[in-house]
Amino acid sequence: MTKLGLFSLQHRGQESAGIVAVEDGAARAVRSMGLVSDMPLAPLDALHGSMAIGHTRYSTTGSSVIENAQPVLVSSRGGSIALAHNGNITNAGEMRVDLEDLGSIFASSMDSEVIVHRLARSAANTPERRLADALSGVEGAYSIVMVLGDTLLSARDPRGWRPLVMGRLNGAPVFASETCALDIVGATYERDIEPGEIIAVDALGERSIFPFEKKDLKRCVFEHVYFARPDSRIFGGSVDRARRALGRRLAQECPATNADLVFSVPDSSNSAAIGFAEESGLPYELALIRNHYVGRTFIQPTQATRDAKVRLKYNAVREVLHGKRVVMVDDSIVRGTTTRGLVALVRGAGATEVHMRVSSAPVTGPCYYGIDTPSRDELIAANNNLEEIRASLGVDSLGYLSLDGMLESVPTGPEGFCHACFSGDYPTPPPTDPDKLRFGCGC
Ligand code: AMP
Repeated sequence: MTKLGLFSLQHRGQESAGIVAVEDGAARAVRSMGLVSDMPLAPLDALHGSMAIGHTRYSTTGSSVIENAQPVLVSSRGGSIALAHNGNITNAGEMRVDLEDLGSIFASSMDSEVIVHRLARSAANTPERRLADALSGVEGAYSIVMVLGDTLLSARDPRGWRPLVMGRLNGAPVFASETCALDIVGATYERDIEPGEIIAVDALGERSIFPFEKKDLKRCVFEHVYFARPDSRIFGGSVDRARRALGRRLAQECPATNADLVFSVPDSSNSAAIGFAEESGLPYELALIRNHYVGRTFIQPTQATRDAKVRLKYNAVREVLHGKRVVMVDDSIVRGTTTRGLVALVRGAGATEVHMRVSSAPVTGPCYYGIDTPSRDELIAANNNLEEIRASLGVDSLGYLSLDGMLESVPTGPEGFCHACFSGDYPTPPPTDPDKLRFGCGC
């Protein structure tokens, strides 16, 4: 069941996957590098228990090695502690130094591990209060599911950066980052975990506490733009509806009046491109075909491999594009690698004009809260004006959605969102090691 849920959350991380199951108080883990489908079958079949947590990881802090695969699992005097964390803790560096001064020895280079050490040190008398102790003073983004002894815990940071939902299956609670993971196991969506809430589930029942000072809501708008799946509901709204509205607003703000057709850069911009096509009255076509069997372009280590990967990942449909003036819709431009590669493909397939439309505002800064964005000097929109970007991408026209247009398109918007990577309005001080919060243990 946990593995099924992870299949639905594969888009949130492809570097490693893991499951921890608890049977009669004994917790056991299976973790491996790569996709959920790469997890070793025999050890997984041998995992049983009355509760389990799982994780798919893409690294925004710490490097991509098995030591950093989650869930983290350690033993402590209060029983096993297992943790699956989504988000980035921005003051993990300082916390780690403090813990090391007190004698803690770390097994990974992940920001998440500080939570486990702080939890092990708490003397509070309930599992939820121990987690509250561990999380007090922790800055940044965390949506967490945990096991502490015989208690299942979930928690969301007070600003609510990352999504976390609660569902129910046969009377038992199920927690997941997105509702698509509830659907696959047949659980019914019940509610979102509230920002600043900790929920404990064990033989004594279900308990909810709000131990932290209230903070302004800062849900990640990029979840709606790119990260979450369109069949999910996050932050109380549909991702599909958000993306269609983004596309419609984009067509209002940046119309492409003389174009013949609209197509998306599959899959993340499909819904936005449909919205654009609907609003502009242009036909929506499938002009790019994505190969689903090659990995992500974005995290390839060098520019040369990134460029080659774009061609591996996409091909153009000549019959759709030949002789046509086309609108290409993507959800975001980060370095510009994808767009540049696709423009060459699309022109090579005979398109006579390429009008690029982007269903988000220009990305001008890195994210410190759990989305993998490169440093500022690699971001095309941080270093160039619109005309320079257009020329560098080789498109006939270029239009980005405005910041206001983006926020106003989100079903529950425009208030209560973090848009730091677009606006530079960072809700917390940047981490002390902003490049990747990597620690010096060689992991
Ligand atoms: P780039 O090629 O660097 O301009 O990246 C933009 C492309 O990557 C777009 O097609 C986006 O859908 C996708 N993208 C944007 N942000 C991310 C991210 N954090 N991780 C992976 N892909 C991303």
